[in-house]
Amino acid sequence: MAALRRAQAMTGRLPSTGKVWLPCPVCAGRGFEPCRTLPNLDPNVDAEVPEIAVSVCRGCGLICQNPCVPRARMERLYARLEDKVTAGRSESVTEAEGLGRLEAVLRLHPPPARLLEAGCSDGAFLRLAEDAGYRVVGVEPSRASCAKARSLHPGLDVRCGFFDDFKDEAGFDVVCHFFVLEHVYDPKGFLTRTRGLLRAGGAALFELPDVESYARLPFANSYFTYQHLWHFSRSSINDFLGKCRFGPIRLAGRSAWSSRPYGMRVAARPSGASRSGRTEDGREESARARSVRLLNAYFARREDALEAVAGRVRAWLPRVRRRPGPVVIFGAGENGRILLAAGLAKTGRDVFFCDNGRDLQGTSVDGVPVFSPDGVPGLKPSLVIAASSDYEDDIVRQLLGLGINRSRIARLYGC
Ligand SMILES: [Zn+2]
Repeated sequence: MAALRRAQAMTGRLPSTGKVWLPCPVCAGRGFEPCRTLPNLDPNVDAEVPEIAVSVCRGCGLICQNPCVPRARMERLYARLEDKVTAGRSESVTEAEGLGRLEAVLRLHPPPARLLEAGCSDGAFLRLAEDAGYRVVGVEPSRASCAKARSLHPGLDVRCGFFDDFKDEAGFDVVCHFFVLEHVYDPKGFLTRTRGLLRAGGAALFELPDVESYARLPFANSYFTYQHLWHFSRSSINDFLGKCRFGPIRLAGRSAWSSRPYGMRVAARPSGASRSGRTEDGREESARARSVRLLNAYFARREDALEAVAGRVRAWLPRVRRRPGPVVIFGAGENGRILLAAGLAKTGRDVFFCDNGRDLQGTSVDGVPVFSPDGVPGLKPSLVIAASSDYEDDIVRQLLGLGINRSRIARLYGC
């Protein structure tokens, strides 16, 4: 608890000014139960979006970010980030992920067929689909991603702009989008547009995070981020699609298909009329109570996990005192900052961050300089702490590869 409080104090907790309340896309309700406010620890934007509100719709139980920054401001943040994000990534999907998506599309509507991907990023999936015989079109709001798609895959039909403004007379047999819906300000408009672009016999295929799956983890904060507005579950996405006039959906949960372990894949075809989702009052009440219970359990687990992390750091401090050299925290994201807050800065040693993120290298985070991992051996560290709940094994391998002795490497989360 103490570590979390310090981490929160560190971020300044500026008041949430200039935020807007978005209506619930599922039930159109405007009443929300605020559940928790999290500090935003993304160093790229934390001064602009100091905190993230997690709320539950009183009408239908949808978990969402409310209030949130207005759309125009979010678009400016994305525009500022896009060059870094696009430059720092090789391909937007792994080959396995892309092939898994292709297999799902082939099952839904084999070629010859027209396929549209909304939010096609660097075009990696479109290229696979085109090679499989689809006639493909992509639409992508990020100019940097469009430019990358055109340079990586010359000849691919990628149109730069928002899906809201996309026009096409001929229609598509498959419209797909992958991890887009949770970012969209008007998801009902988005799915209605998806439906409107489908030809007779066509189908939509999309992927998004499943809140019921990631809220069972201790560290799911990368999902409760300022960029994610809606936290759908299997049940709420089914209700929502019914209201957007899609027929019964086919859902696939976590499996080998995705490098994002907490996603769900949805296949849906238009229906004639809107399916009414929740109609009984009693069921709505229980959906809301279930969401609140889910979130409370998640935040309680997270605090326990952070307290355990702070305890481990305190146990390491005596070991550090007996060795010369600075302490290096590998990972300048949220986890590394929690470490600092847990008292590492008070060891009397120099503390440095290192990070694989090129946008962070050469900057400082909370006043602590961030190095490239290649610079770590030169620092002659007394201890390097792998501070990532997701990439700990990779970090340890990388450090060993750089010649850091195993006895000087500590894992923050690993068992
Ligand atoms: Zn609602």
